[in-house]
Amino acid sequence: MMCAICENKKPLKTTSVRAYRYKESGLDNVILHGVKESRCEACGEIYYSFGDIDKLHHLIAHHLIRKTEVLTGQEIRFLRKFLGFSSAAFAKLVGYELEHLSRVENGKHDVQKTFDHLVRMLVAKQLPDRDYNLQDLLLDGKAMKIKWLEFSLKGKDWKLGKAA
Ligand SMILES: [Zn+2]
Repeated sequence: MMCAICENKKPLKTTSVRAYRYKESGLDNVILHGVKESRCEACGEIYYSFGDIDKLHHLIAHHLIRKTEVLTGQEIRFLRKFLGFSSAAFAKLVGYELEHLSRVENGKHDVQKTFDHLVRMLVAKQLPDRDYNLQDLLLDGKAMKIKWLEFSLKGKDWKLGKAA
């Protein structure tokens, strides 16, 4: 690839990033392995290539709805966007005032368990995750403890690296 913002006509040097903190997702506990970084030697601009981002977001959502702990505000926001809702539409759907939803997403208000469960079910329906059983997960202790989510890019395809 070429630089899109300067006169440099030389192809950019591309390297593989060992551990990329995927903050663009709005989550601060997602680490990506194998993201491609292309750097323009003339102007210093850096371009990142994430492969199949839809697949990556599916994987993140798949794991978030299986975690033991209550979803965080960040995770609620990620999942709301994953579902394709604006804040206003989502607030209406779940019966919240827009301001309340914002406070929950910003971590200024606790995420209520009923809301957490509703969001998980909406996401499972969208995935669709046929083996998803919220009852098994939450009542029978089959949920996973997730602190960090790690994914690896193999070719264009994302795979779960490690959930710790
Ligand atoms: Zn450049």
